Amino acid sequence: MRTFFSKYWSYALTVGVFVISGFLSYVAYTFIVSGSAEYVFEEVSTNIVACIEKNSIECGADTTDYFSEANKSTADNIFKPTQKKDEKYIKWVDFKISLEALNQAYNYDVKSWSAHKTENKPKLCWIELLAYSAAKTGNNFRGTKCKHISAFAKAINDGVVGSAKSEQGGQGEQVKKGENYPNENTAFPPTKESVVKELTKDLKFYNYYHKAFSAVLENFLGEYHCVRDNKTEYGLLVYHPIAKGYGYSSARDFGNARAFGFKRKHLGNDFFGRTGTPIIAVEGGTIHEAGWNRYGGWRIGILSHCKKRYYYYAHLRKDKPFYKDYKRGDKVNAGDIIGYLGNTGYSYKPNRNMASNPHLHYGLQLVFHPSQFDTDERQSKNEIWIDNYNLIRFLQKNRMQVKTENDKLIAQHTRKPISE
Ligand SMILES: [Zn+2]
Repeated sequence: MRTFFSKYWSYALTVGVFVISGFLSYVAYTFIVSGSAEYVFEEVSTNIVACIEKNSIECGADTTDYFSEANKSTADNIFKPTQKKDEKYIKWVDFKISLEALNQAYNYDVKSWSAHKTENKPKLCWIELLAYSAAKTGNNFRGTKCKHISAFAKAINDGVVGSAKSEQGGQGEQVKKGENYPNENTAFPPTKESVVKELTKDLKFYNYYHKAFSAVLENFLGEYHCVRDNKTEYGLLVYHPIAKGYGYSSARDFGNARAFGFKRKHLGNDFFGRTGTPIIAVEGGTIHEAGWNRYGGWRIGILSHCKKRYYYYAHLRKDKPFYKDYKRGDKVNAGDIIGYLGNTGYSYKPNRNMASNPHLHYGLQLVFHPSQFDTDERQSKNEIWIDNYNLIRFLQKNRMQVKTENDKLIAQHTRKPISE
């Protein structure tokens, strides 16, 4: 009997130790793997400051220059821009603007449009406000940091130049030519441009953030005709990727580890919803690819008209993934239905549902230079993908209504953009 118990306990002990050590190593593994993705991103964002300081990242280049008009002639050349000799361009963007800051800057911008038209007040630009805030705080949009947005807006509205007081929340004075005035070369009365120039001249990274945020947000706001009454309005010209009235859920999953094929990071945001949910083109552009990819399944890639943004919508529905038979080079408008939510992908064989749950994978890549727009399946080190979590929450205010007409689902466009 005694022998039996001692034998029993030694077994129990061995099994116990085995189970506990297994559990502990699982916890450690999970912690290290999920933690390391976070760490790499933190490290990169810290490095960027060092890189800018070392001048290895330049902020002065405009991407539009890299894309020659002459190359638009043939369909295949649309996506092959001419490379300029000048190699200065942005190599990394950490898009961390909070929902609150986006809303705040957006409100200033939109409200200033009518004040500008009717009372000739300065037209505020949300990209400038956000870039100013980022340059003041080191890209920190947490907590009460958004005070810089209102301080900057107020300084521009009041025409306050060179006064540190305006930074403290509105004690700035209307500028008089004299002791307050920065120098004799500055325009008088101060223009919006001269105020912006003066308030940003000592901010080392203002130009960098302005270029970076422009690449993300440029052309998102603009004038449009209301389809119903043909009135001219101003506001969002881009849309939420999920059609109005269709439920979805999302999480902060950008940068998480992914293992299929090769070790990589999740360079997008997932929106879980029901199979068949209409997917809306956030921005208009040119179809770069519409077909099968072993990771994304049925997926569609759209390059914005300005060619600074590449949109990637993946895991579309089995059997009927796309709204139309798209081919490379086709154009789509912002707000168009482009496809349907599904769970295809993670398979070499086309049209297979291997993604765990039906969801839209939404990716946004920034392109400052042709070398960053790599069409290879494997993620290139040069590619810049950004976290869209807050941006998509922001776009919640502009979701596209869809309706079935003659057995066909149609997007109900209400805004007709006025092209420049
Ligand atoms: Zn995804």
